[in-house]
Amino acid sequence: MRAVLLAAPGKISQHPLRIEEVPPPAPTPGHLLLRVRACGVCRTDLHIVEGELPPRREKLIPGHQIVAHIVDGGGPDLPPGTRVGVSWMGGVDGTCWYCRQGRENLCDAPTFTGYTVDGGYAECALARADFTFPLPGSLDDLHAAPLLCAGIIGFRSLRVAEVASGERVGLFGFGASAHLIIEVLRSWKCPVYVSTRGESHRRLASSLGANWVGGERDQPPVQLDRAITFAPSGDVVIAALSSLRKGGVVAINAIHLDRIPQFDYDRLLWGERQLRSVANMTRDDARDFLETAAKIGLKPKVTVFSLDQANEALLAVKSDAIDGAAVIVP
Ligand SMILES: [Zn+2]
Ligand SMILES: [Zn+2]
Repeated sequence: MRAVLLAAPGKISQHPLRIEEVPPPAPTPGHLLLRVRACGVCRTDLHIVEGELPPRREKLIPGHQIVAHIVDGGGPDLPPGTRVGVSWMGGVDGTCWYCRQGRENLCDAPTFTGYTVDGGYAECALARADFTFPLPGSLDDLHAAPLLCAGIIGFRSLRVAEVASGERVGLFGFGASAHLIIEVLRSWKCPVYVSTRGESHRRLASSLGANWVGGERDQPPVQLDRAITFAPSGDVVIAALSSLRKGGVVAINAIHLDRIPQFDYDRLLWGERQLRSVANMTRDDARDFLETAAKIGLKPKVTVFSLDQANEALLAVKSDAIDGAAVIVP
């Protein structure tokens, strides 16, 4: 099969990904052999490819928003031909303290798709059967792919921020994840305030119903009940914190931040404001979000790349050059 391989991390501008012909994965018990139809590109892929997340395999096929058909390995519940999605959580041990508390997103021995095991920038992939999700028929392959991490973890961010119906929510950054959850927030009747760089991202936010749109350091005109940050930047976290009412929550939806700058506790955090990180996802997050997405008719804005263009796709994500999500079609 054709696959995109990362042998050594490097700056994406140097094109560290190479396309190669490799043997397809061999089916193993409990796993499904999948024919990949589309694979979304996530900012985490960029952190892996550029080495901000330490390498875990000598050679890696990245990609963790996989839409695929089952070729082999499914039981009666998942017969060959079934269309499924695979996300960032590729598996958990099920036995550690966190798993036993129902917090499998924090598992001590997790498997991460496209990081600790090969992912979906390829014609075929192998996935643990109990970590695949049947996909709503209302969404085609291209538009289902960005739901699988950008969407699910964006949805988890709303839970971590404890957003309630009608609350004022700030979105700091407006990439693949934010452009999906703004639609969930609107279905919950939440006024949404978007701070983001790039004129086209601001236009997209307005067209999707944001109540206010400003530049990445602009303060929304109201105090926010909740804020979610997406940029890998600590300055943006502080901007979000500065916009929060007493008792409000900032949820940081980023697996990597450049740093957290020094900030004024008395003014920004005192008053029971809370700063929280969003780590991974649970299978319940995935099922609940996919059900919500189908119910509200969520349709991501996508830009398609071929396998050969994997470097270009990641470069586009890094430079915020596209609106919505990038999707690779093998
Ligand atoms: Zn565990
Ligand atoms: Zn992701």
